[in-house]
Amino acid sequence: MSGRGTHHAGGAVAGLTAGGGALLAGASVREVVVLAVTAAITGGGMLSPDVDQYRAWRTLDRWLPDELLGVGGPLQHRGISHWWGTMVGLAALWAGLLVNVPTVHWLWPVAAGQVAGWASHLALDFVYGSQVRARSGPIVVRGGVPLAPWWMHVGIRWRSGGLGSRFAGVVLTGVAVAEAALLIRWAGAPPAAPAVHLPFVHAVTASAGTTPGP
Ligand SMILES: [Zn+2]
Repeated sequence: MSGRGTHHAGGAVAGLTAGGGALLAGASVREVVVLAVTAAITGGGMLSPDVDQYRAWRTLDRWLPDELLGVGGPLQHRGISHWWGTMVGLAALWAGLLVNVPTVHWLWPVAAGQVAGWASHLALDFVYGSQVRARSGPIVVRGGVPLAPWWMHVGIRWRSGGLGSRFAGVVLTGVAVAEAALLIRWAGAPPAAPAVHLPFVHAVTASAGTTPGP
């Protein structure tokens, strides 16, 4: 995996970008903050596709003979949790929940943030992460992300954890900070009425203020 910090920064950028769109579409500042924070959290670590590197998942992988399904099995690192179809499936589950259960509609920023966070994770893993082989030959860590549920990995396969990935982390953090600053300014002073004088608008408001004569 790329550095975890890089992943969280990538999630923040994705969340803030989606949040900017949501703000334009009429979302509240609080909803945008929830969306961006959720994306930053789920962009890396245990709640991201890298859940496949944590103890519960690894234990499951040891217990289940998923390798029998071939090509390393779905539970391997950068397996099914890193498949785009899993992300789309989660998005569909969220959509189904939000549409069918109106009482949880307020959860939409969490749903949007999770999908944005996972999308940013897969995008970064597409770019970073080279293949690692054991001395005996088999691949231990696959590079890129799987096109098929847990095989057919594609990606640019730049070395992760190296200078490149760390540099990306610094750049992404910078972009996130700039985006946040822009959104804060924008939310504080939303683009108000047009600055240009529109004689027609003045005429309408003026006539609306006068009481009609008998
Ligand atoms: Zn990953």
